[in-house]
Amino acid sequence: MASPTRVKIIATVGPATNSYEIIKRLISEGVSCFRINYSHGEPKIWDEWISYIRDASTELDTVVSIMGDLPGPQIRIGDIKPQEIHTKDKIFLVLGNSASEEKTIPIPIKKVFETLEIGDLVLLDDGKIMLRIEDVSENQAVATALNDGVLLPHKTLVIHGKEINLPSLTERDVQYVKYSVNKDITFLALSYVKTSKDVEVVRDLVSRLTKNPLKLVAKIETRSAVNNLRSIIEASDAVIIARGDLGMHYSLEELPFLQKRIAYLSLKYGKPSIVATQLLETMVNYPRPSRSEVVDVMNAVMDLIDALLLTNETAVGKYPIETIRWLKRIVRIAEANINKTSIESIRSDSASTLREKYALGLTLLAEHINAKILVYTKTGTIPSLISRYRPQVDVYAGSTHHRISEELTIRYGIRPYKIKVVKEDKRIDYDKGVQLLYNLLRQIGEIEYGDIIAEAYGRKETEIHSIKIRQVI
Ligand code: PGA
Ligand code: MN
Repeated sequence: MASPTRVKIIATVGPATNSYEIIKRLISEGVSCFRINYSHGEPKIWDEWISYIRDASTELDTVVSIMGDLPGPQIRIGDIKPQEIHTKDKIFLVLGNSASEEKTIPIPIKKVFETLEIGDLVLLDDGKIMLRIEDVSENQAVATALNDGVLLPHKTLVIHGKEINLPSLTERDVQYVKYSVNKDITFLALSYVKTSKDVEVVRDLVSRLTKNPLKLVAKIETRSAVNNLRSIIEASDAVIIARGDLGMHYSLEELPFLQKRIAYLSLKYGKPSIVATQLLETMVNYPRPSRSEVVDVMNAVMDLIDALLLTNETAVGKYPIETIRWLKRIVRIAEANINKTSIESIRSDSASTLREKYALGLTLLAEHINAKILVYTKTGTIPSLISRYRPQVDVYAGSTHHRISEELTIRYGIRPYKIKVVKEDKRIDYDKGVQLLYNLLRQIGEIEYGDIIAEAYGRKETEIHSIKIRQVI
């Protein structure tokens, strides 16, 4: 397998990737985490995807993680017959679950009508259809269509620039949290988070369900989330810059700066940042990306993000494998030309604790002598700290715990390896752990005769943090 990119690749599973063979190829091409969007499909199909992912990663002997994505409090229109809408059509919005008349859209949530005002812009189906509100009453509104399009049942509805206060966790979300816990999934993404409380509520629920809690990823996609950015980042284990929905709550031209701000703050707080949506959207239908998409992906890498999340490209696109290949090509060139000044600036002001200083010193040392870092970890802390300094050398992280290894699959520059030990040996010592990692990497040819390596671990109990430099013989 060619060496992976430092920026990680996450792929959404969907009808386009619904087979063991395709999943396996995506992993071989470098996908290290798969997102299952619980807004689509049902547990029966997710079960299948999960077993494809797990079997393929076992067969390829690679650490791969799974991210379940909770639908959250989204507004969807009710049941209608698929129909064409034309510019200037008069459209009726009515309270209810279904409607049989043409040009009548049922909305099951009363609060929508309480929030709507004359002049509001309503975006349906991720903005594919736009309506302007002309009149509102208690249970009904009249609107004008602003473009042509096909209206399909159960699509999303957003009032541009406005938020509707709905409970953050629906009954359906609770079911999916339980499902994720039962399936021992690594990450849970939370949609439409508004405050840090929304993250804490899920954390409480998860900790009541399991001793081995999954990591929570806040999707930043509402205005409230942007307003409460710091506290949400602090409360979460990672964040997704969800440009799809962000682009409906903000004007599109505000997106580039929002992306940069979220990426910068996540890095500052040591949380992985993931850029999502329309990365290589053209490749849903064509085998090549557009020029501007290539530049966008390159810019995201320059923003020092941890991971790129493909959505439609791999879920419903015609060219899922080619998309990953293109993504890698772009990321590789961007990584080879990474901006040294921005890396220096993130390193200059952030090391305050002993562990941070250790991780930074280790990174600088390894880069200076061109060493590969081998770190053994029990909790993932040291590799996560190293990742934060955006290491420009290979970093291999070994762990005996599958979940700890999986958690590192979305971290910049960290290559997680699961160290297999016989059961009685589970609590192996750090020295032994590094040695096992060394043996494994030597065996699979990741480290070779003559390589300089920095073997490392931080032992919290004794406050001893070790670095051993050696040459592979
Ligand atoms: P979604 O999130 O695919 O669940 O909508 C991504 C986004 O909004 O960009
Ligand atoms: Mn979204």
